[in-house]
Amino acid sequence: MNTNDAFTLEVTGIDKVCAAGELYGRHCQKEGKIPVFSCEGGCIKGEIARQAANMVAKNDDYARACHGELFTVPHADLAKWVREAGKVILIDGCSLHCHKRIAENIIGKDQLVIFDALSIHRKYANLMDVDDVPEEERKQAAKEVADKILANLQENIPCCPYPLPSCGCESSPQVESTCTT
Ligand code: SF4
Repeated sequence: MNTNDAFTLEVTGIDKVCAAGELYGRHCQKEGKIPVFSCEGGCIKGEIARQAANMVAKNDDYARACHGELFTVPHADLAKWVREAGKVILIDGCSLHCHKRIAENIIGKDQLVIFDALSIHRKYANLMDVDDVPEEERKQAAKEVADKILANLQENIPCCPYPLPSCGCESSPQVESTCTT
């Protein structure tokens, strides 16, 4: 298999839903909220993406979505809200874009607005453990990412992985990460 080949993951089905997620998904769809989710990788880069997604989602018009239900509970109302939203914000932790590569096969590419948190904060590329970075510094990096994303969204500027010269981001490939997860 070549590294660029698409591949398939089999997901075990489930006939349950999350009661809170159903109510929340229906409410967000009714209110026309724009879903925000992140890769939530277990390393510091994923953690910053996760915190940044939480911050962006606190702003008017946006609401936090759950990647787990989107990817693995397709019959859930929360997943339906995300799939049917006109615009979906996705923050990956680094240039491996783990969630972009899944989401773009579930959600229309035109709906997805994708960001790479590492290319915005440009720190901790070779760290893994979340605790390698003090909590306050983590929050500060996440805020920097969230502020940049909100500014770009306001001006309708896409960021990574298709950066425009005007977005001030030199694009993720220049910030190489050795993260191999
Ligand atoms: S490798 Fe990067 S994009 Fe993938 S889960 Fe980890 S931080 Fe997120």
